[in-house]
Amino acid sequence: MAASMVSRGTTQQSSAPYNRRIVLDVIRRHGAISRRRIVELVSLSPQTVANITNELEALGLIVARRVTGAKARGQPPIAFALNPNAGNAIGISLEPGRAAAALVNLGGEILGRRRIEVDTHDQRAVLAAMVSLVGELNSAAGAPRTWGVGVALPGPLIPTEISFVGPTALEGWTDLSVFDELRAATRLQVFYSVDSVAGALGETLFGVAKSLDNFFYMHFGVGLGGTLVVNRAAYRGANGNATEIGHIPVVPGGRPCYCGSSGCLERYVSLHSLAEALGVPDVRDRAAWIVQALASGSEPTLEAWCREAADRLRDAVCVIENMLDPRSIVIGGSAPKPLVERLLALAMPLHHSVRGGVANPAERILLSERQEDSTILGAAVLPIYDQLSPRLEVLQQDRRPEAGVAEAMGAREPTGAGRL
Ligand SMILES: [Zn+2]
Repeated sequence: MAASMVSRGTTQQSSAPYNRRIVLDVIRRHGAISRRRIVELVSLSPQTVANITNELEALGLIVARRVTGAKARGQPPIAFALNPNAGNAIGISLEPGRAAAALVNLGGEILGRRRIEVDTHDQRAVLAAMVSLVGELNSAAGAPRTWGVGVALPGPLIPTEISFVGPTALEGWTDLSVFDELRAATRLQVFYSVDSVAGALGETLFGVAKSLDNFFYMHFGVGLGGTLVVNRAAYRGANGNATEIGHIPVVPGGRPCYCGSSGCLERYVSLHSLAEALGVPDVRDRAAWIVQALASGSEPTLEAWCREAADRLRDAVCVIENMLDPRSIVIGGSAPKPLVERLLALAMPLHHSVRGGVANPAERILLSERQEDSTILGAAVLPIYDQLSPRLEVLQQDRRPEAGVAEAMGAREPTGAGRL
């Protein structure tokens, strides 16, 4: 791990929760690490680090193990590791027509999953589906350790002229108070976020972006979205609607888009666009068919769609790289991985850009290892991200006294559902 990626501790009076997060973050990212090494990495005194590891151990968040086989004299050294079962969270991914949920532990392991087909035009039906999913997964958890519920949904969420419009969004939703109701019904903290932000944070905590401070996350699902991660936090823009790349026009005079423009990237690169080309309502349940058809090359319509989508993807990569210079572009979302792999292969060689000749070609674009699960995992990260990963702005937040882990880690309990 490069030194630049480690947050440093602070001696400010109000910094105890922040320092705990930094230490917990270092332990989590290293897998197992000695106290001496933690001291070296976080720039806190040995006494402060010892106090913090004692506190984290008492909270059950970390476990100490004697390192076997070490040749040190006297007591064998102790390594600390995150206790993945110290807590869990429920992630819900809302896409048009469907609510999928999973129970995920602090190590990113999926402990259980459920899915409900639901008419997402009907917010009451979606609320009932979410309450039912949370109830089933929470009782399956068998432990009072669920830290909260995270919901990922297609953006943009702040009302704009393209919010909640068209077949790739949750059409007709006018407000998001449904998440306050979910909180009241489940008595759990509820956080919600644009699916691309959730996916990006999921990759930061558990995925291929674990060691990346700056990257661009491309959400390839029913629609197409994007999030820029800067210093491990999502860049929001003026109103929280930044990098909504699906509606960037890429083809002059191209296909009309439900946003009111034409030639938008999402009209060429999205599962909705593929479904349209194939003349079917939904391709999410056809992953096996797609994989087989790609392998045999027997579907000319699919092949033609892939070639055009790859051309548009190549352009998009060039725009993103030249504008943002991200360390990598990470692609996740509900699209089947073999489909994304095919588009990437067809998009090679990439256009010349500021990343070309600087980045290893294989690192310019990374695919989520959890592809189909990346959004659900990202949603589950929303309630735990703040407590597992240090962010400077936490220092500026008001905190009120709370009990247990949330208090120790400086979490602020929202009065309603929290938007991340
Ligand atoms: Zn559009």
